[in-house]
Amino acid sequence: MIYQYWNHKMETLDRADLEAYQLTQLKKTVKYALETPFYQSRLKAEGIRHEDDIKTLADLRRIPFTTKHDLRGGFPYGFLSIPKEAIVRLHASSGTTGTPTTIYFSQEDIIRWTSFVARSIYAAGCTKSDVFQNMITYGLFTGGLGFHYGGEAVGMMVIPSGAGNTTRQFKLMQDFGTTVVHATPSFLLHVESKMREEGISRETLRLKRAFAGAEPYSEDTRKRIEKLLAIDVYNSYGLSEMNGPGVAFECQCKNGLHLWEDGFIPEIIDPDTLEAIPDGETGELVLTCLCREATPILRYRTRDLTSFYTEPCACGRTHRRLRRITGRTDDMLIINGVNLFPSQIEEVIMSIKEVGNNYLIVVEKEGAMDRLTIKTEVNQDIFMDDTRPLNALKERIRKTLQGMITINPKVELHEHGSLPVSEGKAQRVQDMRPKDV
Ligand code: ADP
Ligand code: ZN
Repeated sequence: MIYQYWNHKMETLDRADLEAYQLTQLKKTVKYALETPFYQSRLKAEGIRHEDDIKTLADLRRIPFTTKHDLRGGFPYGFLSIPKEAIVRLHASSGTTGTPTTIYFSQEDIIRWTSFVARSIYAAGCTKSDVFQNMITYGLFTGGLGFHYGGEAVGMMVIPSGAGNTTRQFKLMQDFGTTVVHATPSFLLHVESKMREEGISRETLRLKRAFAGAEPYSEDTRKRIEKLLAIDVYNSYGLSEMNGPGVAFECQCKNGLHLWEDGFIPEIIDPDTLEAIPDGETGELVLTCLCREATPILRYRTRDLTSFYTEPCACGRTHRRLRRITGRTDDMLIINGVNLFPSQIEEVIMSIKEVGNNYLIVVEKEGAMDRLTIKTEVNQDIFMDDTRPLNALKERIRKTLQGMITINPKVELHEHGSLPVSEGKAQRVQDMRPKDV
């Protein structure tokens, strides 16, 4: 395969040069950080009063972690390092886990962010001849404008369709010959269901690729989308605290996400002991943003769980690859004492071909016990009035799940298209247990 690079030099920089570059950028970032009310006191308490107090990359460890709680506490301007007149944009996180946090950008920040997104889009093989339909929420959420600017920088024709309204999405795809889309994986599955429902023939579309991100999904879900829509799906990872999209992306090898180490310093820690863990083992990703002046953020605890691949990638990029994010530390459910991540359930059910494109995880209290119910749609070829095969399918799903998660769930089958769909990040877990228990 011939790989294309947006910025060949930076994407293939050898480790020593990459680290030297990181150190320069880290010092700059510390300089900006010392201008913010939050870090001023934080860094000074650690004896860091000047960027020259950072002498090596190892000095990063002298800086305490920053948490989402810190960011909320610093609202609205505790993390701002430039005069307000120099801000050209603000974004906010989606608020999946509570009050959103705000990030400010200078003009230069937007240019740098855009170049990381463009690099990521290009790494997946897109070119200026592509027509790109950005089927994700625009607005405060970074996914919309982030990809929009990146797509334009690559030179693609960008259709800012936003999320939702599948009928209009199909019309745009057909009218303008869309070749690339960006959406959440759950919305892509919904698009596929709607395509069949509305009788849209795949031949009328020119789709080749999709970027799927903003929420965790399993390899089986990727394969399912690729097969059903006959496209290549690339995993895209980002978070508003680190600009948004453009943090870690898959190249055409589709085997792990290159984390752009000239823009971000990654660490992986044990979320309980906060100690660094050996390369290759799973832990919480901690990121330092090296490419933003307006809102510098150092050693941010993302709560996202992942690990590094240790072997180099065939594409020649030197930036290390992350394994697909399996969930957040705070996604974990404890069911009758057993720890369970929603991604474990997804992995099982998406590998069963009779299962449809949508599901829900419901946890309730039944007396003193927790009760786990998996509500899943069946695919369109299955008749809901044929009870015998349905019961057999239900039993098969239950047994497979029980084997994998060691909890005996109740399984409910639902007609395709009957479970609620979210246009943004999917809301798959309904935890109905009283909060104080
Ligand atoms: P919020 O934290 O409120 O959801 P963001 O919009 O900044 O706000 O979302 C970033 C988060 O989304 C990440 O920290 C991660 O948990 C999740 N995420 C983004 N991309 C992916 C991906 N490709 N795989 C798994 N999770 C992802
Ligand atoms: Zn690669």
